[in-house]
Amino acid sequence: KLSKRLEAVAAHIPKESILADIGSDHAYLPCYAYLQGIIKSGIAGEVVEGPYQSALQQVRKTELEHVIEVRKGDGLDVIFPNEVTCLTIAGMGGTLIQSILEKGKEKLEGVQTLILQPNIGAKKIRLWLLQNKWELVAETILQEDGRIYEILVAKRGEETQPYKDNKSAYLLVGPFLAKERNEIFLKKWSHELAHWKRIVEQLETAAKSEANEKKMKELNENIRLVEEVLKIEN
Ligand code: SAM
Repeated sequence: KLSKRLEAVAAHIPKESILADIGSDHAYLPCYAYLQGIIKSGIAGEVVEGPYQSALQQVRKTELEHVIEVRKGDGLDVIFPNEVTCLTIAGMGGTLIQSILEKGKEKLEGVQTLILQPNIGAKKIRLWLLQNKWELVAETILQEDGRIYEILVAKRGEETQPYKDNKSAYLLVGPFLAKERNEIFLKKWSHELAHWKRIVEQLETAAKSEANEKKMKELNENIRLVEEVLKIEN
């Protein structure tokens, strides 16, 4: 059975897509998406030998060799321009996802949908999308096994509309998630707030240094932004 997290990623894949799942590990996502009748075919990309072997094994086990191809390589190196229509990158940090997209920019030709699931650092991705003419069109937040995950969906386009009300705060927390304000969203950000405030307290009593001052300023700015988002209609 697929994790709730990957099921939620799969739910955003457009029907009839040709999918590339980068950092696929066991290739669970492309196999599932094919078996559910969501995709026409898929590529599972892996850069590390162990997970690459796991992906090959899983594809063999489910007898999907004719539709799911496993390729070994770094990031988007494993695909050609105009080869796939949908790209998924899940279960990594936002910084790594952002760098994979940036490094493989020219391979994104023909890709219509990006579905990105950062474990942390979603802001890095929202910024990259905005700077590279990808329009954020949907977001999902969910909890599984005590951890909270965000999923970002983007299509080609320059629309900055989702950010218009409060750009700095929405880049951090997500414009769609902020508008939806569900229980998990409120939980995530009240936890983050408490965590940041504890760090600021510690920094206040620590020896003064330029690095500490900078860190405090950054945290206080984030605290201000998130408090603003949380206080509305609370
Ligand atoms: N996508 C799966 C999921 O969400 O369950 C697996 C997530 S796993 C934590 C991250 C995987 O990304 C690892 O198997 C790792 O080898 C792979 N990975 C990390 N950097 C990569 C890169 N630059 N290119 C391809 N795969 C990468």
